[in-house]
Amino acid sequence: MASSNAPLAPPRLEEPYLLTPGPLTTAHDTKAAMLRDWGSWDADFRVLTAEMRAGLLDLLGPGKADYDCVPMQGSGSFSVEAMLGGFIPRDGKTLVLANGAYGQRAAETLRYLGRAHTVLDKGDYLPPRGEEVARALAADPHITHVVAIHCETSSGILNPIEEISDAVAAAGRALLIDSMSAFGAVPLDPRRLQFDAMVSSANKCIEGVPGFGFVIAKRAALDAARGNAHSLSLDVHAQWAHMERTGQWRFTPPTHVVAAFVTALRAHAAEGGVAARGARYAENRDVLVAGMRALGFETLLDDRWLSPIIVTFFCPADPAFSFPAFYDAMKAKGFVLYPGKLTAVESFRIGCIGQMDAQVMRRVVAAAAEVLDDMGVTSAAPPEAARAERARLAEGEV
Ligand SMILES: *Cc1c(COP(=O)(O)O)cnc(C)c1O
Repeated sequence: MASSNAPLAPPRLEEPYLLTPGPLTTAHDTKAAMLRDWGSWDADFRVLTAEMRAGLLDLLGPGKADYDCVPMQGSGSFSVEAMLGGFIPRDGKTLVLANGAYGQRAAETLRYLGRAHTVLDKGDYLPPRGEEVARALAADPHITHVVAIHCETSSGILNPIEEISDAVAAAGRALLIDSMSAFGAVPLDPRRLQFDAMVSSANKCIEGVPGFGFVIAKRAALDAARGNAHSLSLDVHAQWAHMERTGQWRFTPPTHVVAAFVTALRAHAAEGGVAARGARYAENRDVLVAGMRALGFETLLDDRWLSPIIVTFFCPADPAFSFPAFYDAMKAKGFVLYPGKLTAVESFRIGCIGQMDAQVMRRVVAAAAEVLDDMGVTSAAPPEAARAERARLAEGEV
């Protein structure tokens, strides 16, 4: 595992660190793996695809036996759409647990697909709790499926997926998980969680480059998905059946991206797998949060909800602070930040994932201190409205 004593190789000088939740800063070896052309039908590439599918299944741990992995071309949202269109029968009804942009996007996808759904909308960040899920399911016997977001990347909250899974299983419904920004760094253990399918993509915690996503689903669910899809290119059953039969992707695969991803997946294993990746990201978060708090910044979420993926900070109330100026100055120092997504108060986000370690995060904090100084910001404390917003989180807990 990478320790703070053995710093990761920095990106090239002219390249800033991407403190964003994907695309993110990748290792040089991952990028270098793209300097070769592959024939998509060729045996060498089929071997690569097979290694990738097996390697991704391994990340589930010992409970993986009933599952298979189906890569899909496109960004992560394409795989979410393939999962929803594939596993939810046309006459099914879905409960979407939303507490941010990605839950809303899942609901919007179902609207496009014309599939019946209802949304448990918790607003910008309040977590959907097991008890409310149980109540919603008891109240509507027509619901067949529940969609949950593992880490809701728009606030950075790590949703309580275990209690959600328990509630869904107890009610006899099927769970579909968008684990896009968590898979590979946060355990998703089928011995502990009951889910029919989950999705993630190449450019998040496995630290590949963007270009495809993947669905990991129970083989029985993949079998049952036949004929459900609304779309030829997003038919996860057809992609699976074709891949099982031929070892090839159904349509042109992003060959170079797959080659880069397999290199990233080998690095993930060499680092120590999900536990080590999660530990590095958690240390990144801890160093970042402690450092930023020491400067006076405050996080949207209490510690118990903070994910090791991305952290939302309130913008300081000091009138000398402006986020666009802060962003530009941080970028000039080599760090690309991410704007916030809260509706009520101003915020920004800093990602903890990618080829970065605690030493990099210390430099991020030092750079933020210098920029605040240059801007003439004397206090990074948020406005009262932000604290009131956070107090709602404590109240909102069931
Ligand atoms: C990144 C992400 C997605 C997919 O976004 P794309 O831009 O389509 O890759 C979906 N859900 C979550 C939670 C994400 O973090």
